[in-house]
Amino acid sequence: MDSAERDQRFDRATELFDGLNAREVRVVALTWVDNSGITRTKSVPLRKLAHAAAHGVGASPVFDVFLFDDWIIQGRFAGGPVGDLRLHPDLDRLTVLAGQPGWAWAPADRHFQSGVPYPMDQRLQARKAEQSLAERGFTAKAGFEIEWCVGKADTDDWVPATSGAAYGHARQVELSDYCVDVLNALDQQDVEVLQFHPEYAASQFEVSTAPEGPVAAADTAVLVRETIRAITIRHGLRPSFSPKVINGGVGNGGHLHISLWRDGTNLFDGFHDEARQFSAGVLNHIRALCAIGCPSLASYLRLVPQTWSAPFAAWGEENRETALRLIRDNLEVKCFDLTANPYLLVASVVAAGLDGIATQATLPEGLNVDPALLGDVPRLPTSLREAVEEFEKDAVLTEAFGKELAGTIADVRRGEMERYKDASPQGIANVTRWRH
Ligand code: GLU
Ligand code: MG
Repeated sequence: MDSAERDQRFDRATELFDGLNAREVRVVALTWVDNSGITRTKSVPLRKLAHAAAHGVGASPVFDVFLFDDWIIQGRFAGGPVGDLRLHPDLDRLTVLAGQPGWAWAPADRHFQSGVPYPMDQRLQARKAEQSLAERGFTAKAGFEIEWCVGKADTDDWVPATSGAAYGHARQVELSDYCVDVLNALDQQDVEVLQFHPEYAASQFEVSTAPEGPVAAADTAVLVRETIRAITIRHGLRPSFSPKVINGGVGNGGHLHISLWRDGTNLFDGFHDEARQFSAGVLNHIRALCAIGCPSLASYLRLVPQTWSAPFAAWGEENRETALRLIRDNLEVKCFDLTANPYLLVASVVAAGLDGIATQATLPEGLNVDPALLGDVPRLPTSLREAVEEFEKDAVLTEAFGKELAGTIADVRRGEMERYKDASPQGIANVTRWRH
């Protein structure tokens, strides 16, 4: 970022001031998502937005080695008290927050003080994935399904806020104002919701949003989650986005939908050769992708058969138990959950898919039965350790991220394993429940 770009950013934010001020915005939250999937933030008063846009806001690189519980590890390539990065808000995505009066939000890109982009920045990885697609003449559209459970707020234990049935309208009657407020807030923030429904687990809901570019989709995943959190808290309740709110039963997924486009044509519509190869690439790397998409110990409480968490390394048309579910016009990678960093996730899935195209990978036969009934369908990793080992062996993914980021991701995962090595499954569910 040179001084001309800094000036341009300053002027742009200055132009936005009056409009934001008229909407009574007082504070702007700048967020990024760390390697443990936690959205971290620094905020500036509205009057300092222009300065922040041009010069950034200081943030230590130590956040790269934070665990989800704020424990800090020493990584091989990151950690320690020294250094400073600058958070630069992306003004194109600046949004006035409907669930937090007085606040606006913008996702931030992390740069060195010199203005050079920080290579371990997760959002930068998603941008790079968009460039890789463009270099090959493609674009992609993506969207996350967000599932969450609504609990009572006066306890750290899990007490469902509604007793209405799965997919039952009663749940939407019991929490009628809440549901409307969530959807209304998203609408006011220009988030295009496709669908909303009460999900299978106790007091669970789901919202899905319209497909958009990979970076935008990851930004939206952050915005939707933080909006749900804000509205839930305003209703005196508490949201859990954890993969397994309690051990046993059905968990919260964070399924990723992705389609591949060329010259305005969706290559998944009709399942063209390149869409097949892209899907085959994702399937070939799916076990390693779990270190990104199922990145927590709690992820492996969720990834069990016959809970619709899709824990099998296979694909099928409209199959809800295979990691890859082919839908009419897109690929749903169903095994992922919301402890994942959405930027890293879109970046790694694109890298895997493009590798499929580069190698002209072929898809095996799709499965049209429950894989659990066949007995010989390979599983996804059943532990975080297994996923990390797969990731470290995967040259395509580790090269896409670069040695330092890939190594730091592995270090953070191992830090979590070490810290909770003696924890029971329920203990892991308890410590993860309210964190993401
Ligand atoms: N809640 C399930 C999961 O853990 C997914 C249910 C569904 O949408 O099929 O991913
Ligand atoms: Mg669902």
